[in-house]
Amino acid sequence: MKIVTIIGARPQFIKAAVVSREILKHSQLEEVIVHTGQHFDANMSDVFFEQMDIPKPHYQLEIASLSHGAMTGRMLEKIEEVLLKEQPDWVLVYGDTNSTLAGALAASKLHIKVAHVEAGLRSFNMRMPEEQNRILTDKISEILFCPTQSAKQNLLKEGYSDDANYLPVVGDVMFDAAKFYAQRSQRPSELPSDISLGKFVLGTIHRAENTNDLSRLKSLVESLNEINQSEPVVVPLHPRTKAILDANDIAVDFTILEPVGYLEMVYLLQHCSLVVSDSGGVQKEAYFFKKPCLVTRDETEWVELVEHGSNHLVGVEKSKILAAYDKAKSTDVDYSVPFYGNGHCAEEVIGYLLKDGCN
Ligand code: UDP
Repeated sequence: MKIVTIIGARPQFIKAAVVSREILKHSQLEEVIVHTGQHFDANMSDVFFEQMDIPKPHYQLEIASLSHGAMTGRMLEKIEEVLLKEQPDWVLVYGDTNSTLAGALAASKLHIKVAHVEAGLRSFNMRMPEEQNRILTDKISEILFCPTQSAKQNLLKEGYSDDANYLPVVGDVMFDAAKFYAQRSQRPSELPSDISLGKFVLGTIHRAENTNDLSRLKSLVESLNEINQSEPVVVPLHPRTKAILDANDIAVDFTILEPVGYLEMVYLLQHCSLVVSDSGGVQKEAYFFKKPCLVTRDETEWVELVEHGSNHLVGVEKSKILAAYDKAKSTDVDYSVPFYGNGHCAEEVIGYLLKDGCN
C-alpha cells in the first residue's frame, strides 16, 4: 500500500515524525513524503528532519513566502503532478495549514482517499486561515482521525455520521512525539547560563491574529516584559514575529532565542515553570510536561485544558495576562487526566489504514 504524506510546516514535521516511524515498521507500506516548502529556514525545517529521524522528503516543492491564495493554488497544482505520478492508495495530511488543504484537495479531485490526522478541531473563528483549512479538509477526507472526544463531537454537530471507522478517536500524535523524544531533550546552546531551571517562563508568539495586529502584539510583548521583571521570560521567536517586532521598533526586555529544534523545545518545556503561548501545539505540550499555560488567544481548539483548569484563555490584555499568571502560579492542577490518548496514536492511525487495505 502506498501512502503519500504531505507536510510543509513545523508542527507537521513533528506530527509526521512519529507516524513515519510507525510506517517503517510495516514492510507492506511504502511512504512517499512531499515537503511543500511552506516553512523552509534550516531552523524551521531541516533541524526537525535531522533530530527526529524523519525520512528525507522525496519531493521538495519549494513553495513559500506567498499570499495564502497563491501559496495554496501553487501547492494544489504541484501536488496534483506528484499524485498523478505516484498513484498512491492514501494521501495523509496533518493539521490545518495551507499544505493540509492543498494536499487534501489535490487528492480528492483525483479520487484518491484522504486521511486527516487532527480532524474535528474548531475555533469557531472563520477568519483564521487554520479554521478554513481544517473545515474544508475534514469535508473531503475519507477518514478523520480525531485527537479528542470534543473534536469528534464537533464533527457530529456538523452532521458527520457517527461511524467509528470514519471518525475514530485515536489520541494526539503530538503526545506520542512528546513521550518519545522526552528522553533525548537538549539544552539550547543559546539559553543564557544565568537562567535557573524551573524558574523561567517559556513563551511563543506566532499566531497571525497576534502578529498582524500591532496593538495586540504590543500588548502581548508589554505583558511579557512585565512578567520578566519577576521571573525571566524566554521566547524562541518565530522568524515572522521577529521581523514584525524589528520593523516596528517594539521594545523587548525578555530573552529572545532563534527558533529552536524540537529536542531543545522539549528541554525548555521540561524545565520552565509556566508557558505563555498562542501556538496550538505548545498549549498541549505544556500539559504533557505538567506546566500551566496562559493561552494568548481569544478562543482555543483545545477546550478540555481550559475546562480542566491547566490552561487559561487570556487574550492579549495585560491586566488579564498578569492576573492569570498569578492565579496559575498558585493553583494546583492534576496533570494525569489522559485527554490525548496513551502515546500510541501513530500505531492506531496506521492500524486503520492497514485495515482498510485488507478490505
Ligand atoms: N516548536 C519548536 N521550536 C520552536 C517553537 C516551537 O520545536 O522554537 C515546536 C513546538 O514544540 C510544537 C510545534 O513546534 O511542537 C508547534 O508549532 P507552531 O507553534 O509553529 O504551530 P501550531 O502548533 O500553532 O500550529
